[in-house]
Amino acid sequence: MIKVRVAQCWDDGVFTDIRLAEILRKHKAKATFNLCSGLHCEESVPVKWMKPEPGQPPAPINTFHSGRVGKDRMLEVYGDFEVASHCDLHEDARTTDPQAFLKSAVTSRKFLEDFFQKECRGFAWPYGAYTDETVKLLNEAGFAYGRTTENTDDVTACKDPLMLASSCHFMNRLFWQKYEQAKKTTGVFYFWGHSYEMADFDPYWNNFNDMIAYISNDPEAEWVNVVDLVK
Ligand SMILES: [Zn+2]
Repeated sequence: MIKVRVAQCWDDGVFTDIRLAEILRKHKAKATFNLCSGLHCEESVPVKWMKPEPGQPPAPINTFHSGRVGKDRMLEVYGDFEVASHCDLHEDARTTDPQAFLKSAVTSRKFLEDFFQKECRGFAWPYGAYTDETVKLLNEAGFAYGRTTENTDDVTACKDPLMLASSCHFMNRLFWQKYEQAKKTTGVFYFWGHSYEMADFDPYWNNFNDMIAYISNDPEAEWVNVVDLVK
């Protein structure tokens, strides 16, 4: 018997999505990818570890460059999944003129609808940031939801789908506790992340593979798309 509907989404269209999408396809998991139309060049940009300039000290952190899926591979990588707007250039709603922000959100949506030839009514707020005015504008423009980076124990209780909270980030230490809790209470579990957070560390990827396999093999769970949560 199904006790929990499970949704997931992934941000920014980075090159590591290629590895992630393979795992999702292998286990027949549904997912939504939140993409910025203006950040995808014609050709994909692979990941790389940055080396310090000669004579310069190495950077202590953030030396992994996550690359980007190019238009050359977008259909192959994302074609089996849902895609949603994440603005044209990952603008910040707190610091962008509201009308310009709306235009950016719609530009990305139109690009994705043309490119994938399907309706894309979802949205994820870059940096998780939103304002009263941008919530109102995106609602009026017909977006079905806007994902924030807030956590909630009850995804179904959000007062406005344009301020949709998720259960947790995929690396949350309480991931399985929240998953089991959702089964007993709301029946909805929704997680999100960036595939680049696993960089090229095989132990992370192997663990992620096992997480997705576990949910796919759970007779009490069913994958759904994010947009299904707000219908
Ligand atoms: Zn983002």
